[in-house]
Amino acid sequence: MAGYTPMMEQYLSVKATAKDALLFFRLGDFYEMFFEDAITASRELEITLTGRGAGQEERVPMCGVPHHAAEGYIARLIEKGYKVAVCEQVEDPASTKGVVKREIVRIVTPGTVMDAKMVGDASNNFIVGAARQTGRFGMAACDLTTGELYLTSFAESPEAVNNILNVYRPAEAVGDEASIAAIDQVAPPALRSLTTTIREEADLAKLSSQFPDEPWNVHEAVRQQAVARLIAYLEETQKRSLAHLRAVKAYESESFMSLDAFTRRNLELTETVRDRSRKGSLLALLDRSRTAMGARLLKRWIDQPLLNREEAERRLDAVEALNGDWIKRKELRDELGEVYDLERLAGRIAYGTANARDLNALRNSLRRIPTVQALCHSFGTAPLTALAERMDACEDIADAIEHAISDDPPVTLKEGGIIRAGYDKKLDELREASQNGKQWIAELERREREVTGIKSLKIGFNKVFGYYLEVTRSNLASLPEGRYERKQTLANAERFVTPELKEKEALILEAEDRMFDLEYETFIALRDRIAEQMARLQRLAESVATLDVLQSFAEASAERRYSRPSWTDGDGYDLTIEDGRHPVVESVNENGVFIANDTSLTVSGGSILLITGPNMAGKSTYMRQVAMICLMAQIGCFVPARRAVLPFVDRIFTRIGAADDLVGGQSTFMVEMKDIQVMTEQATSRSLIIIDELGRGTSTDEGMAIAQAVIEYVHHHIGCKALVSTHFHELAHLESSLPRLRNGCMAVRESADGVTFLRKLVAGAADSSYGIYCAQLAGLPDTIVSRAYSLLNDRGTVDVEGHIPKDVTAREAAAAYSAPSPEPVANKEIEQLSLFPEAAPKAKAAKSPAGDKVLEKLKKLDVMRMTPMQALEWLNDARNQL
Ligand code: ADP
Repeated sequence: MAGYTPMMEQYLSVKATAKDALLFFRLGDFYEMFFEDAITASRELEITLTGRGAGQEERVPMCGVPHHAAEGYIARLIEKGYKVAVCEQVEDPASTKGVVKREIVRIVTPGTVMDAKMVGDASNNFIVGAARQTGRFGMAACDLTTGELYLTSFAESPEAVNNILNVYRPAEAVGDEASIAAIDQVAPPALRSLTTTIREEADLAKLSSQFPDEPWNVHEAVRQQAVARLIAYLEETQKRSLAHLRAVKAYESESFMSLDAFTRRNLELTETVRDRSRKGSLLALLDRSRTAMGARLLKRWIDQPLLNREEAERRLDAVEALNGDWIKRKELRDELGEVYDLERLAGRIAYGTANARDLNALRNSLRRIPTVQALCHSFGTAPLTALAERMDACEDIADAIEHAISDDPPVTLKEGGIIRAGYDKKLDELREASQNGKQWIAELERREREVTGIKSLKIGFNKVFGYYLEVTRSNLASLPEGRYERKQTLANAERFVTPELKEKEALILEAEDRMFDLEYETFIALRDRIAEQMARLQRLAESVATLDVLQSFAEASAERRYSRPSWTDGDGYDLTIEDGRHPVVESVNENGVFIANDTSLTVSGGSILLITGPNMAGKSTYMRQVAMICLMAQIGCFVPARRAVLPFVDRIFTRIGAADDLVGGQSTFMVEMKDIQVMTEQATSRSLIIIDELGRGTSTDEGMAIAQAVIEYVHHHIGCKALVSTHFHELAHLESSLPRLRNGCMAVRESADGVTFLRKLVAGAADSSYGIYCAQLAGLPDTIVSRAYSLLNDRGTVDVEGHIPKDVTAREAAAAYSAPSPEPVANKEIEQLSLFPEAAPKAKAAKSPAGDKVLEKLKKLDVMRMTPMQALEWLNDARNQL
């Protein structure tokens, strides 16, 4: 380091301790960055890059931000995935010789931001610790803003790691090289910018001091390592007490249904596929929570459906009670609406960032709890009573805050106004002294006006000069010479002091200073005392959040007329749904009518349903609705159906042929096959499988062959409930060879105006698709449409087992392709939902005489023997005739 200035030497030695972070180095009123950090930060923040002489020939790159605006800049860097180390002056520059001592006081990282604005009320910000050992993977997930810490472990597989990452969506991960590599390998697209830190050693000794109540010896080594790494990292970056991390919520990963990324995405549980927005997801639909804690917990419940039937029943019991009494539910919702985010308040208290307003918010929230408890009791239902009993209203804490903190304290902590009169004797004395002083000054002002006869004479105060008497220029002549001491001259006034005024001023200011200090100390002492009660506050927060989610379910269920599901007993795992609806499609279809459908997957009546039928008929909606209903039941919510008797499923798999993993760069078909592979490996007889457009991504023959093989495998080897849709109508023949498979299709009505999709599932197979018809309705050029029909026609004579009539006109082809008219299973309330109604006249136009003539010719055309040029000429002629 020879040759650098002492300041730069200091910089370099600090930087050496924070190599992976951008170092914000405090110099006066600025945070400066140097070298590579400066280049990076100037680029990312779009601020000017300059240079600074540092004792060497070349100036070093430098850029800086004003200290008062630093938070915004830090936030922007964190969002981009950087870590920022904040280095402050830790000595008073006035009393030091040479370079002021500087230290890193905190390291802000994506997983440890405490700023609620950055994190968002309704979402958690998780950082995970990871470990890996002999085939086991341990993961600890912590949200520093709420003090939650979840811990689990499982047999390692890329898929299992991916699933857990999807639950927590961490912003940051800490682990040994192997576990970070495992995470990087499977991190879902949303987490591709995950910030990672490698840490091989895990200080297990720390565990019992951080979590004194946790029986560490019963936890597997990988779990201990995962937490130990995380805690060490948090200590290092936060450089303060982690007092609010005291409780570990350890769970077996088997207690929740594991949902793979694809199923989550496909069912749009917490965000939509199209734009990843919350709006339009199941989460948004069910979120009627009144607290931010409730909103966060709801997301976790949706992400982790239960595998414990008793627990699901308990939730449903509570939802049923809440659902049944809207008046009490409203009262409860009103009360909950007044409860602040207890988790985050508690987090700020423990972290030492809570101000007096936060404490008042806590007090007001705690005061609501007794009413909440009474309301819970009043339902007379075991799970709600149990919740009420678990709630501790923490009256002692509310009382302590009420005694100490004034009703309307300022945001700042060092300017007084926080502590209530009567709370502290010393404080009251100081306050009186300062008030007396101020009164004395008011008296002085009155007296001097009288003596001098200057009515506009006033006494003012500013931070530089303290108290002064002010006389306007025009009145100066009336001021007796030598009465006051001149202090400051303004444009149109003079300011004066008197020895007496200065003496009083000293008394007042001293009293105020001491008062502010004492108020601050009193506040901190109270806050620290509350911090000791952290565990109680966190437990309360958890109960309130649980209650909030339950009422949210009840509210959404009442609003949308959902009903309580029940479970099938016995080994059959039969699934019966009457008048089921897709919750989200139904909700966005507010003006239209959603057609309800029945589902019956039973051992005796067939446990696999193979659905054929045209595009846009409602196949995927139907299949997804079955999956959604099963999932909603297992998070403890009512379901969109008139009646649902469901198997308690161990897993839901959904696969879609057309899914493109564009970000991942994998071919569509490869992705589908990998998904199917995972499914064949992991599905059991208690799973629910949904496959949409099986075998779509490859050639017809291969696709059909694979589809059939997969269906047979599910039928023979897995034996679970499955809904499969396919555009290979030919597969309908499987019904005769597979005893547990049934055909179904979406009913369609043909009329002169075109095709109407009835959205009703009927038994039997559709024998055609409307792909070309849809293309025609959508207004594709007639040339393409005719050509498509003729090609299809040709192929029909060759390889489509007689399903497609030979020698048909384009119009006839369209009609033939809409042939299925099996009897609806139940045909009540079938509405005509016409697709593209405005396009219907176009379809009719084909009936003109000229058109008929052209079609006649087209019918006779031997396309296979024509050159492309001949075909074009023919098309041109045909068009001219029309
Ligand atoms: P498919 O999978 O057969 O191509 P979709 O399930 O995607 O068809 O449905 C097409 C559209 O039809 C959906 O966007 C939806 O708006 C509407 N739809 C589907 N099912 C119903 C229903 N049961 N009632 C009303 N509209 C429906």
